[in-house]
Amino acid sequence: MYRLFNLMMTDYITSWDLKQFIYCPMITWIRSNYLVEEPSNPNMELGKISIDEKELIAKELNLPQPIRYEVHIVSKKLKAAGIVDIVAGSKRATVVEVKKFYRHQVNHFETQLKFYAYLVNAELTPVHKAILKVGNKVLNYLISGEELRRVEELIRKVREVREKPNPPTVNTPPNKCIKCWYRRYCISHN
Ligand code: SF4
Repeated sequence: MYRLFNLMMTDYITSWDLKQFIYCPMITWIRSNYLVEEPSNPNMELGKISIDEKELIAKELNLPQPIRYEVHIVSKKLKAAGIVDIVAGSKRATVVEVKKFYRHQVNHFETQLKFYAYLVNAELTPVHKAILKVGNKVLNYLISGEELRRVEELIRKVREVREKPNPPTVNTPPNKCIKCWYRRYCISHN
C-alpha cells in the first residue's frame, strides 16, 4: 500500500485517483497541488479481505484456472498501477474486485474494476469479463474495446486536472461536500 502511495504522489494513476475524480474532480486537483492525502480510517481496515476469503469466493464464482490473487500491476508504459483482487483464466481472463460490505451505490467500485480490467488487458492478458462482488451481491460485466477506451479517457481527464495550475470548476452537490475530508482545503465547497 505504501508503495502505491508513493507511486500516487508521482505521475502514476491508481484506482484511488479515478474513484476520487468521479466523486469530485476538485479532490484530484487538491491532492496534486497541495500534496495532501486523507488518512486511512478504521472502516478501511474493517473492509479488508484475506487471501483465504478470496479463495473461497473464487470457488463460489466457479472461476477458470489459473487463478491469481492480489496481482500487483505497475505499468511503466501507461504510468498506471493497481493491486487486482483476482485474475482468473489465461487467454481470456476474468478480473474480480471484492468488497466485503454491501453498498447501494457501486459506480465508484465499477470504475475501479474496469480500471483493473484495463491494466490487466494492457499488461498481462486479454480480459473479456469482470465481476464485482459487493457483500453477497455479484455483478457481471462484459469488457469491450469501448469500455477500455472509456477508462483511457477517464485517465486522460484525471491527468489533465492534476497538471493544471488552476483548480477546476465543479458543481458538487452539498451532500457530498459535507462528507468530504478535503473540504478544509477546498475553495469551492457547497
Ligand atoms: S468539499 Fe466538495 S467541492 Fe470541495 S473537494 Fe470536497 S466534494 Fe469537492
